[in-house]
Amino acid sequence: MKQKKKKYNVRINKQCIGCGECVDICPAHVLIMNQKRAYIDTLSRCIGCSVCETTCPVDAITVRTI
Ligand code: SF4
Ligand code: SF4
Repeated sequence: MKQKKKKYNVRINKQCIGCGECVDICPAHVLIMNQKRAYIDTLSRCIGCSVCETTCPVDAITVRTI
């Protein structure tokens, strides 16, 4: 049987201070900066590496497998 491709959900909460670290470090260019906060641009590109999550200085971003 063909294995289903994993999908990920990325959330950014209000604690985001707009440092841009996650946007710069994401290897798949999922995130963008807008109005001094990080936003999800193209979630389908996410590879679930969680680098954004571990990089964020204020724990504002979380990655989950769905
Ligand atoms: S989990 Fe990895 S690929 Fe997905 S948004 Fe975060 S840094 Fe980008
Ligand atoms: S690393 Fe955290 S605080 Fe910085 S822009 Fe990303 S979500 Fe916001």
